[in-house]
Amino acid sequence: MKKYTTLAEIQAHVVQQKLSLPDLLEYYFQQIEDYKHLNAFNEVFFLSAKKQAADVQEKINNQTAGKLAGMVIGIKDNICYQDHLVTASSKMLEHFVAPYSATVVERLLAEDAIIIGRLNCDEFAMGGSNETSYFGPVRNAADQERVAGGSSGGSAVAVQADMCLATLGTDTGGSVRQPAAFCGCIGLKPTYGRISRYGVIAYASSFDQVGTITSSVDDAALLLEVLAGADDKDSTVSQKPVPAYSRSLVPAQKQKIAVLQETLNSEALDPEIREAILKGIEKLKTDGHEIEYVSFDLLDYLVPAYYVLTAAEASSNLSRYDGVHYGYRNKDAKDLNQLYKLSRAEGFGPEVKRRILLGTFILSAGYYDAYYQKAQKVRRLIRDKVELLLQQHDAILLPVTPTPAFKIGENIKDPLVMYMEDIFTVLASLSGVPAISLPLGNNQSGLPLSVQLIAAHYNETALLNLSHSFLK
Ligand code: GLN
Repeated sequence: MKKYTTLAEIQAHVVQQKLSLPDLLEYYFQQIEDYKHLNAFNEVFFLSAKKQAADVQEKINNQTAGKLAGMVIGIKDNICYQDHLVTASSKMLEHFVAPYSATVVERLLAEDAIIIGRLNCDEFAMGGSNETSYFGPVRNAADQERVAGGSSGGSAVAVQADMCLATLGTDTGGSVRQPAAFCGCIGLKPTYGRISRYGVIAYASSFDQVGTITSSVDDAALLLEVLAGADDKDSTVSQKPVPAYSRSLVPAQKQKIAVLQETLNSEALDPEIREAILKGIEKLKTDGHEIEYVSFDLLDYLVPAYYVLTAAEASSNLSRYDGVHYGYRNKDAKDLNQLYKLSRAEGFGPEVKRRILLGTFILSAGYYDAYYQKAQKVRRLIRDKVELLLQQHDAILLPVTPTPAFKIGENIKDPLVMYMEDIFTVLASLSGVPAISLPLGNNQSGLPLSVQLIAAHYNETALLNLSHSFLK
């Protein structure tokens, strides 16, 4: 079977009876089997997906199908799907069955998407290489010795190796955009508050956002249109109306784009990424857009502010895993304190523990002002600066990652090296603005390269239009 890159093509072929959804699903099952060694899936939902495929095929035949009919989609294993396991790739939740579905899952199903399985990720979405997963690393399909990126590594590789058409991930500090970049896919993190987080396992609540990984901008637009919008179950979601992103995809007219000078001049930036981005900039100019190099002098503060704030929020969010409410429970504890201690010590992996300890320290009396408060102030400065730039420009352009996918085991031993990998993605996360990672072809060794675009709060329309014309 051919590799489909848009839902529109699948739907056209199904209507013309060149393709049936049960056959398409079987093809994806076979791909998952053939690429099992990449470790992208934590579980394939054979039974529920087969039933959905048959049902949706019938709805298409009767012309009663929803917008996403025929979209076979995988979900990151931190998104609840009722009566299915959800583990956050942690021993802590290894046997946990979701008692209800996330709003995003309900919206997918309401529009007749077929959910094929749950995807491997870093433990509790904490990581940038998928190496912190309790279920082992995800391998990059471009080079199996290399990481898929993270934390939504399985979500990226599943699209890269054609194991499904699209996937959902979550992006707290780059977890959709960075693995998409390492795997040559399109990764969209919408505005904070655009999509409901109800039923999504929390990491850092003032940053967490559901995002999509796709092979086309069309599908990113369509998914956003289905997923976005007010939700009674999540008060942080905006009440703003949701534009018909997929229908408003038109070529972007003369945009004013700010290129962050310090990011392209950064010593840490891989020369082939720089070269590919400079070529991309030339293309944008040829297409009639105006490029302005601007200075962003807060670059050094991004990673520290992000890690202080997210560790603090994580330590609070993860306090619920105590061996009592739910999740892993030590069987030999003699008293309550020991139960907490042993359950948490045995249930969490080293990176999650590091962040809980760090976050607890940051929030403790005497250090709160020095770290947490200060990081909040820095976050505000960063956000103000980004908002100012986006009042003067339609978009901001910068790299997604300093390097292409690195080797498995290469960076994981040094947390600071790992954290610095996030330097270009956390900007949009700290500011809450929408951002997208777009593929720029491969380097000499066949590894995907990419570029990132950012737009103003709730201006996904501009971001998608510019991305759409850029990739044409
Ligand atoms: N690598 C970043 C971190 O470990 C981003 C993770 C994410 O976006 N979930 O925090």
